[in-house]
Amino acid sequence: MLRLPRFRHETPASLEEAAALLSEHKGRARLLAGGTDLLPNLKHGIEEADVVVSLGRVPELNRVRETEGGDLELGAMLSLEALASDALVRKRYPALSVAAGLVAGPHHRRMGTLGGNVCLNTRCVYINQTHFWREALGYCLKKDGEACHVVKGGKRCVAAASNDTAPVLTTLGASLRLRSQSRGVRVLPIADFYVQDGVYNKALEPDELLESVLIPMPQPGLHSAYKKLRPRDSIDFPRLSVAVAFRLESDVVRDLRVVISALAARPLMLKKVGDLSEGRPLNDDLLDELGSAAFKQCHPLTNVDGDTTYRRDMVPVYVKRALRAARDSGLSMP
Ligand SMILES: Cc1cc2nc3c(=O)[nH]c(=O)nc-3n(C[C@H](O)[C@H](O)[C@H](O)COP(=O)(O)OP(=O)(O)OC[C@H]3O[C@@H](n4cnc5c(N)ncnc54)[C@H](O)[C@@H]3O)c2cc1C
Ligand code: SF4
Repeated sequence: MLRLPRFRHETPASLEEAAALLSEHKGRARLLAGGTDLLPNLKHGIEEADVVVSLGRVPELNRVRETEGGDLELGAMLSLEALASDALVRKRYPALSVAAGLVAGPHHRRMGTLGGNVCLNTRCVYINQTHFWREALGYCLKKDGEACHVVKGGKRCVAAASNDTAPVLTTLGASLRLRSQSRGVRVLPIADFYVQDGVYNKALEPDELLESVLIPMPQPGLHSAYKKLRPRDSIDFPRLSVAVAFRLESDVVRDLRVVISALAARPLMLKKVGDLSEGRPLNDDLLDELGSAAFKQCHPLTNVDGDTTYRRDMVPVYVKRALRAARDSGLSMP
């Protein structure tokens, strides 16, 4: 049986208290939301902590509200189940509701939170294993070792961002409200939050916590969709995920954003694909062109399970499926 290591458990009742604990134990404290990823990682020795700070008693983190400007603010402790079924989220941001509803299985979505999903650790077939297994392999760059087993001779960990909500939030232009005791609150676009380092892929300082996610009011004519490739239609992490968002203006495409994830440490925005579609009708010719352009830009690695050639072949298929689903679905209504 895998046991949790020893740590101190703190249960702050306010944001200030939580931030103070992170500051006091800088680098040695871990935040606990639903625990669906952190607890297995602590058991496997992939993450270590002297102090675990549970966020379950901080009421502000459950807040869902519309700001004066019409943006939607979603508290970090909102469960994925609540996010997937929220009527306003379904109406305004259907792709987000779909993505939240595709995370893991029903029990994980009841426990798992938006904040935990946004801040999810990267994953790799060589790290998400027991300590015994990793020790037998000589560990790796991400934890305790000096080599990467995915990119031989590689100097940087390429473990994959595998969180379903991140690509969608990126296409929607979301921002994150981050809090620390010493520096107060800062708001960072999610497009700048993930960095290309599988060891730690976030611009989140060790003394900071994610308070909420801010999503702008949908622009008129916004269409969005999310598609996820996984071995089974339940529980599994993505082998590839595609989020798209664009506006249809008199049947032509404006501002297409295509974000692909589960390939590398950060979700990848396919800017060239977006640019190709500007001002053109989304017909079958354009869909084929965009699918081929996406294929050229994506190079799956053996960090995630599933054959890399197959995953690459699925890039145009999933990009086209996502674009068709967005085009044929209803508009995001304010
Ligand atoms: C069998 C299985 C299948 C899964 N499948 C999927 C899947 O398909 N897609 C997917 O996206 N995920 C999947 N997961 C991972 C996980 O269940 C979800 O990502 C979930 O949303 C994590 O949320 P949580 O609240 O449980 O996070 P936790 O486990 O509590 O935390 C995750 C990380 O985020 C940090 N964190 C949590 N809250 C905050 C905050 N407010 N501020 C800063 N840091 C914070 C924690 O310190 C930790 O590092 C799966 C997990 C399992 C066990
Ligand atoms: S990508 Fe390489 S360094 Fe990173 S977890 Fe996988 S094997 Fe380890």
